[in-house]
Amino acid sequence: MSQPAMKMATLDPKVASFLEGAPKRLLINGQWVDAASGQTFETINPATGEVLAHVAEASAADVDRAVEAARAAFERGWGQSKPTHRTRLLLAIADLIDAHRDELAQLESLDNGKPIFESRNIDVPGAAECFRYYAGWPTKIYGETNPSDPVYFSYTLREPVGVCGQIIPWNFPLLMAAWKLGPALACGNAVILKPAEQTPLTALRLGELLLEAGVPEGVVNILPGFGPTAGAAIAAHPGIDKVAFTGSTEVGKDILRASAGNLKRVSLELGGKSPNIVFTDADHDAAVQGALGGIFFNQGQVCCAGSRLFVEERMYDEFTDKVTTFAQQVKLGPPLDPETRMGPLVSQEQFDRVKSYLRAGKDEGAKVGTGGEAATEGALARGYYVKPTVFTGVRNTMRIAQEEIFGPVVAAIPFTDENDAVLQGNATIYGLAAGIWTRDVSKAHKVARALKAGTVWINCYNQMDPTAPFGGYKQSGFGRELGKHSLELYTQVKQVWLRV
Ligand code: NDP
Repeated sequence: MSQPAMKMATLDPKVASFLEGAPKRLLINGQWVDAASGQTFETINPATGEVLAHVAEASAADVDRAVEAARAAFERGWGQSKPTHRTRLLLAIADLIDAHRDELAQLESLDNGKPIFESRNIDVPGAAECFRYYAGWPTKIYGETNPSDPVYFSYTLREPVGVCGQIIPWNFPLLMAAWKLGPALACGNAVILKPAEQTPLTALRLGELLLEAGVPEGVVNILPGFGPTAGAAIAAHPGIDKVAFTGSTEVGKDILRASAGNLKRVSLELGGKSPNIVFTDADHDAAVQGALGGIFFNQGQVCCAGSRLFVEERMYDEFTDKVTTFAQQVKLGPPLDPETRMGPLVSQEQFDRVKSYLRAGKDEGAKVGTGGEAATEGALARGYYVKPTVFTGVRNTMRIAQEEIFGPVVAAIPFTDENDAVLQGNATIYGLAAGIWTRDVSKAHKVARALKAGTVWINCYNQMDPTAPFGGYKQSGFGRELGKHSLELYTQVKQVWLRV
């Protein structure tokens, strides 16, 4: 592991001015307002533990205000707005995100800890592309004419759901906001968005850009706050028609329970423990890079991280040695250093959680190939840094192979053959994603079909695109985001009969 470089990107003056001064406020009905309680909370820089900004803390009373504003906006005309109007707005949002790329990337890296290399090249452009993709949809959401008895004219309309609550996590704050807002707005819904308490800043800056783009008042309301208060109020609110959630499986279950009050529609994108399976006949160099990218991208704080690395037994030692060697070269450092490839974890809580799994792995008898501890060299001691960690000699039943760690920790597990890879790969409560590395095309397709996962990558990993649906099997959730599948989440079908 290399020492932290001292080279830093210069802080964008717009970032500095955004962070300065009075607490950031809630966006309700097109206005920036204080929380009804007057309370605020701190958002912390995970690279230093210092306070970045104070943010208004939404509670149930603010959710009530936002729901009222969203309902009024929806009924006032947004729900019936011209499709081309929504297209223009979504394109304007995408353009504004592009125009503020450096600023948004810095804000994201400061608040979340992810390397600027990633926020600038993946998160921010990805968010713009998501809005741009959904800009194409409003004019292409069709109903159907049904082949009924000719005395009737029978057709369907595909209408927006209404007011949608969207609760997002801290691992891809801006990108998750785009995944949620893009399709919801394309379909004509009004939204209450709750960013995670750890990372509210880019959602708030996005709120400013939405107003600049001309999003009508009340159509998007942004309420930073805490899960058990603001989040729970959204999940239970009788005035909210649909809730979309990305986060832990445990909270996903709470949300499903809370939604029962008014039978909200629910879509859940939850945790994972994804198998990344390497066969001996794979391109080994590509597979090593795929194994590293699969787990160390975003510090491993990725729902579809390839956290279980299955390696065919007969090359297990040789392959895991290579992964270990390369893992030692991953450049850990401050998020704003353009050379950094892994930054700190998002919070003290996540730092403690990951360290507890490092202990659990050792206690269970797994061998530390590399890492296995926090990084404390120089300036890194101030932040929540964990060394890229490879555990070898792991059994699929160990806690580090079954529980979502959400950190830069990979469990390398041997398998004997195709069947064993599938059996072990599927032996988890999760089913979000999987990777397969082989040159044998038939084997690749056979294994892809047999794996119970919402996404399977063959000879690649972590590929994402706004056109490609993403979501889980089993306890990784239900509903598919992205692509045309998101339209199912944000529309409902009305059947109309006319006696001719
Ligand atoms: P959570 O599931 O608690 O957080 C995700 C979002 O849900 C946040 O906005 C959070 O609010 C909100 N939330 C929390 N409790 C409730 C509730 N009762 N009702 C409604 N909303 C709620 O994840 P954590 O931040 O606690 O992370 C814990 C673990 O969850 C991670 O280690 C990881 O394993 C997993 N996780 C998975 C993610 C994924 O992409 N699938 C993303 C994030 C975490 P707030 O944080 O503001 O209080």
